[in-house]
Amino acid sequence: MVSYKELGLVNTKEMFAKAVKGGYAIPAFNFNTMEQMQAIVQAAVETKSPVIMQVSKGARKYANPTILRYMAQGAVEYAKELGCANPQIVLHLDHGDSFETCKSCIDSGFSSVMIDGSSLPYEENIALTKKVVEYAHAHDVTVEAELGVLAGVEDEVCAAESHYTKPEEVIDFATRTGCDSLAISIGTSHGAYKFTPEQCTRDPQTGKLVPPPLAFDVLAAIEEKLPGFPIVLHGSSSVPQDEVDTINKYGGKLPDAVGIPEEQLRKAAASAVCKINIDSDSRLAMTAAIRKHFAENPGHFDPRQYLTPARENMKKMYIHKIMNVLGSNDKL
Ligand SMILES: [Zn+2]
Repeated sequence: MVSYKELGLVNTKEMFAKAVKGGYAIPAFNFNTMEQMQAIVQAAVETKSPVIMQVSKGARKYANPTILRYMAQGAVEYAKELGCANPQIVLHLDHGDSFETCKSCIDSGFSSVMIDGSSLPYEENIALTKKVVEYAHAHDVTVEAELGVLAGVEDEVCAAESHYTKPEEVIDFATRTGCDSLAISIGTSHGAYKFTPEQCTRDPQTGKLVPPPLAFDVLAAIEEKLPGFPIVLHGSSSVPQDEVDTINKYGGKLPDAVGIPEEQLRKAAASAVCKINIDSDSRLAMTAAIRKHFAENPGHFDPRQYLTPARENMKKMYIHKIMNVLGSNDKL
């Protein structure tokens, strides 16, 4: 049993309270590789931002749970080495699918876990979430729950269609489970193909797809029921067109990839939304830089040659999100 406190990590309690009050959101960046971890820490330190480093079930399978946990510990030490005296880094389990997975993460040094019972019937979601909350809170670990279903595909999480969170259920759910934050469904979606072309309109000038707007009326109704309660948005990558264009220019094939416009996320961050999950944008930034590098340097084969620009491009994206979308800079 390792407590996250021994690793220098923090839970989300204080940072969410400050974010809700301050009208900004904490970035939750998924990571699987050392280069992503380095880019996340460098971006957070340079912008003086708290940060959530999150690990999905797929990431644990890819990188190995033990390695990821030591990477999070390394992230704290690395942040200090870069000059941050008091780093605020959370190690969070993204989409925990069972009590056992959550328990194993808590026992191995995670400071926050998500239990995703959103595909279960309402009462079963409550029972499962409550069980995780009881174990987590006994170890001072915070819990994110989910109500409502997001569409899209990412790692093992997959749903064909979305169901918006029902505002009339949130008080009952939050009270009975004791969860610390709630992921809601208001039209965000997992993956790089968040909407089909049929769900979008086309900009007559550029021919690019324009996604449907988020359901801010649902968000407002939830905030009215649970004033000041931390709300989480999943599936909130913006799928930057320049990265998609670079990928396609250098041999990739991502037709009609579309994400959530940043002005909508900016609006959400100013509300009770205090955690915004970004995964696909990092994948796109990495892939675009690598494809471009190989096209321009066909003779390169040292991974450091192409992973250096990949890491730089991810860092640039993380800094942009922190400063221009979430507003979590200068909070340490
Ligand atoms: Zn998610």
